[in-house]
Amino acid sequence: MEHSTKLLINGEIVEGAGEAMSVLNPSTGSTICEVAEATADQVDASVRAACEAFPEFAAKTPGERSALLLELASRLEAEIDDFAELESLDTGKPLAASIEEMGACVDLFRYMAGAVRCMSGIAAGEYMEGFTSMIRRDPVGVVAGISPWNYPLMMAAWKLGPPLATGCTMVLKPSELTPLTTLKLVNMLADIYPRGVVNVLSGRGATTGDMLINHDYVEFISLTGSIRTAKQVLQAASKTIKHTHLELGGKAPVIIYDDADMQAVIGGLRELSFYNAGQDCTQPCRFYISNRIYDNFVADFASAIATIKSGAPKDDGVEMGPIITSAQYERINSIVGSARETKHLEIVTGGYSVSGNGFFFEPTLIANAQQEDEVVQDEIFGPVVTATPFSDVEQAISWANDTHYGLSASVWTRDVSRAMQTVAKLRYGITWVNTHLVGVSEMPHGGMKSSGYGKDMSIYALEDYTVPRHVMIAH
Ligand code: NAD
Repeated sequence: MEHSTKLLINGEIVEGAGEAMSVLNPSTGSTICEVAEATADQVDASVRAACEAFPEFAAKTPGERSALLLELASRLEAEIDDFAELESLDTGKPLAASIEEMGACVDLFRYMAGAVRCMSGIAAGEYMEGFTSMIRRDPVGVVAGISPWNYPLMMAAWKLGPPLATGCTMVLKPSELTPLTTLKLVNMLADIYPRGVVNVLSGRGATTGDMLINHDYVEFISLTGSIRTAKQVLQAASKTIKHTHLELGGKAPVIIYDDADMQAVIGGLRELSFYNAGQDCTQPCRFYISNRIYDNFVADFASAIATIKSGAPKDDGVEMGPIITSAQYERINSIVGSARETKHLEIVTGGYSVSGNGFFFEPTLIANAQQEDEVVQDEIFGPVVTATPFSDVEQAISWANDTHYGLSASVWTRDVSRAMQTVAKLRYGITWVNTHLVGVSEMPHGGMKSSGYGKDMSIYALEDYTVPRHVMIAH
C-alpha cells in the first residue's frame, strides 16, 4: 500500500529533501515505509511561509476560520476508517482504539470551530474617568507545534485546532516514529487552508525539531513530549523570548479507599492502566490502596490483568498492542528487571516479554512498592503498575503528591465528601473520581509542576493561543 510521505510547505506538497527515516510497524518490527526528513532550508521556508500568511489569516473572522475547521472535520470524518487503519499500522494499537481516537480528532476540530466564535472577556467600559478600555484577543503569532508518538493524530489535532481557530499560522512536526497519519492529513490541509497558513514537516527531534524551535521567526512553541525535550524548548525559547506551551510526562497516583466499589475499581483500572499499552501520560500507574483491602485487591487485580489479550491491531479480541520501539521495550524490560532484583518488591504477575514478533510486554503488577522506588518515582510509559498499601489517609495523599509530576490523579471511593476532601489536597492538573483517563473536548488537559503548563482542548487552549490586548481610548 502507498503511504503519503510528503510534507506541506507554503501550500506545496513536497518530498523531504533530507535523510530518509524508516517508519516501523511495532507489531512486527518490519519497515512500513521511508519518510525523508525536512532540511534546514525546508524548515526555514515553512516558517517564512507561516510568517507571510499570518496577517491575512489573523484578519479572517472567527466565522471564516470556523468554517475551515468544520470542513477539515468533515473531510476527516469521511475517511475515519482509513486513518484509523493507518494509525494502528504505525503504532500497533488495537483498531477499535484508533477508530475512537480519530472520532476524538473530529470532535476536537468541531469544538474549536464552535468555541472560537464564543470567546468572551472583560466588558469594555470606563475604568478611569475620561478613558474607555476594551480587550482584544489576538492570535499569538507563528506557532511551532511538536507532537509525540503515542496518540499521533490526536496530539496533532490538539496542536492544530486552537491555533487554526484563533488565527495563528503554524508549522507542525509529528514524531519521527509515527508520522503517517499526520502526513496523510497534509492533502486535506493543502486543499482547505490558504498557502502558508499550516505547514507540516517530518524529521527527528534533534535535527528538524531543533531547527524549528530555534528559528527566530517562531513566536510560540507548543510541545507534547518528554521533560528532556521541554528543557530544550525552554533553552530555544530563551533566545528570542518565545512563548511556550508544554504538555509533558506524568506518573498518575490512584488512591483506593476501603469503601470503593471493588468491581468498578478492578474493571476500570484493568482497562485504563493498560490502554495504549500504558504509553499514556495520564496512565493510572501508582496505586495507593487502603491496607484493609490491599491483599484482596492485589490478588484480584493480578488475576484480572493476566487475562488481557495482547496482539496485532486486528487480532480477534485484542485489548493491548505492543511497545512503540525496541529501545523503549528494552528500557521497560530493564526497569522491571531491576525491580525483580529488589528484595522488598514482588512482581505478582507479568514482568516479561510476550513471545513472537513485535515489541510486546506482559501487563505487569509490582506489589509492596515503596515511595522512593524507581518504579514509583519515574515514568515507565509501559504496561507496568505498582501497588503500595496505606493505613493513614494523609500519608497516602502526601505520597500521591510526592513526585515531580503533576499531570493527573484519581480517587476511588463511594464517599463523596471523602473524595472531594482528597481532590482538594492533590496537586494535579486533572483529577478523576471513580474513573481515570477520560477526556472531553470541552474540558482542559494539562499539568502542574514538571508535567508542564498550558492547556490542550477547551476554551483555555483558545486563550493560550491568543493574547489579551488592552486598548484604551482617551475621550
Ligand atoms: P519526545 O520528547 O522524545 O518527543 C516528542 C516530540 O518532540 C517528537 O516529535 C520529537 O521529534 C520532538 N523532539 C525531540 N527532541 C527535540 C528537540 N531537541 N527539538 C525539537 N523537537 C524535539 O517524547 P516522546 O517519546 O515522543 O513522547 C513521550 C513523552 O510525551 C512522555 O514523557 C509522555 O508522558 C509525554 N506525553 C505527554 C502528553 C501530555 O498531554 N501531557 C501526552 C502524550 C505524551
